[in-house]
This record gives sequence, C-alpha cells and structure tokens, in this order.
Amino acid sequence: MKLGPYKFLLAFVLFCSCDYSEKDIILDTQKWIHGSENCEENSDPAIQIVQYNDDTWILRQNKCTNYEAPFMFLFLGEKKALLMDTGATADENIFPLYKTVKKIISAGPNKNKDLELIVAHTHKHGDHYAADAQFDGKPNTSLIGLEVADIKAFFKISNWPDQIVDFDLGNRKMIIIPIPGHEASSIAIYDPSTKILLTGDSLYPGRLYVKNWAAYKRSIERLVEFTDTNNISAILGNHIEMSRKPGIDYPIQTIYQPEEHQLPLNIKHLKELSNALTKLGDQPQMEIHDSFIIYPID
Ligand SMILES: [Zn+2]
Ligand SMILES: [Zn+2]
Repeated sequence: MKLGPYKFLLAFVLFCSCDYSEKDIILDTQKWIHGSENCEENSDPAIQIVQYNDDTWILRQNKCTNYEAPFMFLFLGEKKALLMDTGATADENIFPLYKTVKKIISAGPNKNKDLELIVAHTHKHGDHYAADAQFDGKPNTSLIGLEVADIKAFFKISNWPDQIVDFDLGNRKMIIIPIPGHEASSIAIYDPSTKILLTGDSLYPGRLYVKNWAAYKRSIERLVEFTDTNNISAILGNHIEMSRKPGIDYPIQTIYQPEEHQLPLNIKHLKELSNALTKLGDQPQMEIHDSFIIYPID
C-alpha cells in the first residue's frame, strides 16, 4: 500500500507525544512538492498534506495537476472547520480535495464531533475555487459565494473594505480583513492562535498582480496597520513563483521548481512592499524585489 499523502498523518498518530505547543512545524524549512521536469514520471500525491499543529493544516496542489500549484489552508475549531480555497482543478478523480479535507477533519482533535465545514476563498480567481463543486451540497458544509456581496453577508461585514471582523470556529477566533486590489473580493485571514496571516495572492513570493492600484495600496497600508497591533509569526500566500535567487522568478506555467523560494514571508516583506508602493505613488509600475515582484495589470 502506498501511504502517499497520509504518511505524515500516520507518523503523527503513531509517534506523537502530543505536546502541541512544541510541535508546530518549521515553515521556513518545510519541503513542498514542486512538480517534475516530466510529469508522467511524477509520483507525488495530487495534494500534499502538511500538519502545522494540532488543528491547522496546509495543503499544496501538485504542479503536475496544475502549474499554479496553489496552497490551501484548513483551520479546525471546536464547532467549525474553515477551508480557505479549493485549488485549481475541479475533477475529484485528479484532485480529491473534498475527500482529503473530510479525512483530515475526521482524524482531527474533534473527531467525535461533527464539525461544520465552512469553505471560503481568498479571492475570486479560478485557481482558488476550481474544486468548489466537490463541496457544493455536501452534508454539514457551507460553501461561501465568490462575490463581495456574498463575503459581506456571510462574515457580517457592513463597511467593506475598512471593517475587520471576527469569525468564531468554536473556541478559535479567526479575523477577516478585506484587502481588495489584486481582485475585488480579496480577503486576508489572521489566525490569533498560530499568528499566521494569510494574504492570498496579494502578498506571496511571486508576481503580485495588481488589478486596482489605488485599492491595493490602501489594502497593503491597512495590513501594515493591522500588524502594528497584532504579532505575526508568518505571512503565507497562495503560490510560490520566485526562485531562491533574489529577484528571479520562474516563468508563468512552470511545472518544475526545484529551487523555489520558501513559502513564508514576514513583516519585513510586508513593510518593504508598503514602502515601495508609497514611493511609486499613484502611477502603477512594475518593480522587482528580492522576494516578490510588484506587477500591475491592465
Ligand atoms: Zn489571484
Ligand atoms: Zn492565484
């Protein structure tokens, strides 16, 4: 039997001494599946499963199923589970995301409870919601719509994008921060328990496509303000496109990234981005940095 993606889980179940506070994985050195030169020879799982701690999981889609290879994030509370994004492939035979998520939840710390699964998105781009249909209509599952109005209604945000709201998973509060600019419905998620800040495609080690320059600048400013009063352990986006060579990115549609940049960015990167946007002013302009590229579109 091929253990595949579950070998980490199995190892955890068998050998865990269960001191969870000591057990968080080291994101800076975490190895991610990163495609193959020849995808016919690729034996990686369709979805890499990495358990960050007792109730937080990071998933990565195999580049051989879609070059975007987006990350997805799963947070478990005592009453609800929150899945951020559903990846870049719809077909469950190629990309079995629903089954994978259900398996994680049923083996998780609240396995005796029937957690409601909330499926939300960092933003409305096809590589972040492709597998939505796998979740649609499933029991005890709420699939949040992709439009700003859907997000406002579900998370009870009356003053978009300036209002920051809490969302309780049951003894685990998540914080939702609207950050339009890359896309109109972009949100960031802050997890006070791990101090991880999810920034979607608005900040990650890659090409930061900016659709609405003015909105993006304001959103990044608001994120900086947020981090003035909230500790951040890591800033995690949804892709890796930079290589380990400063300022050098892999071309779009690359399916093999053996020397890719680490996933986590930090507060220094956020401030570097914010300062660069301030300097660039009102005129959208491309600018290459060591760990990201500001990349206006339109
Ligand atoms: Zn996007
Ligand atoms: Zn994306």
